[in-house]
Amino acid sequence: MLFSTFSTALEELEQLSSRLDMTERLAQLFVQLDSSELAPASYLMQGSLVPPYLSLEFQLSTKMLLRAIARVPSDFVVGSSLSLFGDEDGSSAEIEVNKRYKKVGDLGQVVAEWMQVTNSGLTILEVHAALEKIARFSGTGSQDTKLSAVVALLSSVDGVSAKFIVRIILGKVRLGFSAMTMLDALSWAVVGDKSHHKLLEDAYQKRADIGVLAETYLADIVASKTDPVAVLAAYSVKVGIPVVPALCHRLNSSQEIIDKMGEVIAEPKYDGLRVQIHFKRSGFQDGTTVRAYTRNLDDVTHMFPELSELKNSTDEEALILDSEAIGYNPETNELLPFQETMTRKRKHDIGAASEKVPIKFFVFDVLFRVNIGLIDKKLRERKDVLKGLFKNNRTFELASYIITSDPVLLREYHEDQLSKGLEGAVIKKVDSDYQSGRKGWKWVKIKEEEGTSGKLKDTLDVVVMGYYAGRGKRSQFGIGALLVGVLDETESVKTIAKIGTGLSEKRLVDLKQRCDSFAVEKMPSQYVVDGSLAPDVWVHPSLVIEIAADEITRSPNHTAGVALRFPRLMSIREDKNWTDATSIAELDSLQ
Ligand code: ATP
Repeated sequence: MLFSTFSTALEELEQLSSRLDMTERLAQLFVQLDSSELAPASYLMQGSLVPPYLSLEFQLSTKMLLRAIARVPSDFVVGSSLSLFGDEDGSSAEIEVNKRYKKVGDLGQVVAEWMQVTNSGLTILEVHAALEKIARFSGTGSQDTKLSAVVALLSSVDGVSAKFIVRIILGKVRLGFSAMTMLDALSWAVVGDKSHHKLLEDAYQKRADIGVLAETYLADIVASKTDPVAVLAAYSVKVGIPVVPALCHRLNSSQEIIDKMGEVIAEPKYDGLRVQIHFKRSGFQDGTTVRAYTRNLDDVTHMFPELSELKNSTDEEALILDSEAIGYNPETNELLPFQETMTRKRKHDIGAASEKVPIKFFVFDVLFRVNIGLIDKKLRERKDVLKGLFKNNRTFELASYIITSDPVLLREYHEDQLSKGLEGAVIKKVDSDYQSGRKGWKWVKIKEEEGTSGKLKDTLDVVVMGYYAGRGKRSQFGIGALLVGVLDETESVKTIAKIGTGLSEKRLVDLKQRCDSFAVEKMPSQYVVDGSLAPDVWVHPSLVIEIAADEITRSPNHTAGVALRFPRLMSIREDKNWTDATSIAELDSLQ
């Protein structure tokens, strides 16, 4: 398919607001793609060249792209006045592009209007290859090489293609649909409805790579239509590709937990970073033996040099482990608070950080071993496998646990963990498979009440939808309050609160900066907002914040149908995607 046809489809998708319409249009696009285009096109739709867990970044700033656009030769530019292109370094054109960018706020839109309409004939695969080359240039002088390559690419495409090329490079494709909508669309492409969604979602959770899944499922549409289970049979857990992590439900009392789950395993809830470890002794393509992914499927291997010790700590050939990484004091062996563990998030001083704050991985699950997928096995069996995996070492430790069906013992265990400074207990059904996400009552946490009566039992993670310019003293910051929302079952974001109180000046400035990097002109298509609450600046769904509140009350104004009393900002959840935000269905368990 021509890249311009693909870009036109993306532009159409961008205009749609109903999830059903998007699903149908996406399905149409999927069936028009050649099998070799399915994977790259799927990644491009998600705004990336490769599946998100591989992360290949362009390392090109907005400023560099402005410069590249300005350097596109004048023959390709709409209504170019020669005077703009008179100077050799293109500086007048750069000023003009900059001016337009400041006005429109979206460099994709600027380039679309800037470029001459030409039909380039470049295909999706050709543009993908050209972009990949640009992303992979590295070393001295690579910025200049990248710049020239971007100019060359932009000079050979039309405006709509250029718009998406620029957005892809900037990581701002923002089409407004999630991986879940893509799964709906795949099903729609084959059977004309969403009936294969569950099957596709189960597959995706085991191997979170939508490109490979699309390839597998659409390769033989007739076979997929008649026997999708057989078609997807080979698409299972694969070392090196993240499994979508299991998450907890919330229940109030240990009695309720035992009533619902029967016999359980209870483990300490460590306050660290969730890390899924993939190990392949024979090495991945680049020769390394380990990969580490967060709960958001981001690759954080670089953060943990101590993972290279895994090959000496086990005799296994290949493993996928689920763990919580947590810093400890090497002298006292004491576990450290989350903030100290995270000192190594910055890329440059990891070496120093790993000496000062070494990390221990508390391994609580094993999902794959040599050629055996363990994901469908019972937790009890997986725990037995874990027992034999590690040799004596300081870095990988099995999470301790008890097995019980006694609510009193469970309560005591939970309180014991709290008194040790941990976050309480995580409770898991003994006879359950590994279930990604929050489906089924397989993993549960008990969250403590905040103490004072009337407060909600747990915090909410909400999507920042926009902000209001401040009034009075706050007008100097340009931001006074945030509009935030929760998810409904179709992944629409519905408003639940305006948060203005409890924000320090420093916080306000930081929030404005973060919001501005996701600011968009129009209300994003997945938002449902009452006109009276429209913010001054809309923010594309991306930023997730944790808020506490006193009560959930009915609300005629908020589209979630409820509002929060005394909402206050607790933290910015950098580890969460907007699709991980609290859902309306979960609100009940918070009261
Ligand atoms: P929170 O808001 O409490 O941090 P969350 O929304 O990130 O939780 P939950 O599903 O509520 O995620 O809790 C699961 C998280 O608890 C895991 O992602 C993991 O990081 C952490 N955790 C700590 N100890 C364990 C354990 N023993 N087993 C599983 N998860 C654990």
